[in-house]
Amino acid sequence: MNLLIKSIGLSVSFGLLILVACQQSDDAVTPSISGTTSTTTTTGTNVPDVYKKIYGATDMYVEGTNIVIKTTARPDHKSPYYKGTQWESTLYEAYNGTNPKFSVNPNTIKAFTLTFKIPLNPVVDAAHSATPLGSIGVSLNGVPFFNQYAAMSAPLTNEVNGFDQYGGHPQQQGQYHYHVEPTYLTAKAGKNALLGFLLDGFPVYGPVENGKTITNADLDKYHGHSHATTDYPNGIYHYHITAEDPYLNGSGFYGKAGTITQ
Ligand SMILES: [Zn+2]
Ligand SMILES: [Zn+2]
Repeated sequence: MNLLIKSIGLSVSFGLLILVACQQSDDAVTPSISGTTSTTTTTGTNVPDVYKKIYGATDMYVEGTNIVIKTTARPDHKSPYYKGTQWESTLYEAYNGTNPKFSVNPNTIKAFTLTFKIPLNPVVDAAHSATPLGSIGVSLNGVPFFNQYAAMSAPLTNEVNGFDQYGGHPQQQGQYHYHVEPTYLTAKAGKNALLGFLLDGFPVYGPVENGKTITNADLDKYHGHSHATTDYPNGIYHYHITAEDPYLNGSGFYGKAGTITQ
């Protein structure tokens, strides 16, 4: 009798354990995304794999014909621009790059809520509208890409001296961004890797392809070209980040641009 009660008790608690375990794993499966570190991502199940490379997304889902990607714009790497912020103790690092003219700008990094809404199936746009000041795309760690201009459409001549050892800097409101190669990401993912997407949905690749360093001469005036890539075996138009101006995008978006809100 005692034995029977014990065994019922055991099987009940065992059953409960399974139930709890199932609930936990169900909860755990939905929000996680491979490569995510400190962010919580609620990746929708229908999100194509290529977008999951954006490990810095705080949320990502398909909405109609768009992929929606949310980020904080805050880099997951160290920066001199973390000085004086709540993240200073873990993320501040004095400048240790190679630019002898480096000079820290007066801004510090702040967190934002950026929502990128970009076409899942990018299409060429004959108008090739000019890229705006501010975010023109999103990189793997959630930091936005900016175009080749400083405020008032001035060239980046002076601004480059404010780029930290990872190629980014914050603007006046504290929004960190990359105009040039995000060297933390290319060190991590590879110089030939997919680094993110512009707002028109076309992917952005690093400065190397098939062992060769891409120059502006290899690209059209929007700063891209079409061929197959590992992520798109059937071929796709894509941008490349190069070492010289305009770095990432040339004369406007190749495709019809989505939106960015903050
Ligand atoms: Zn800038
Ligand atoms: Zn290419």
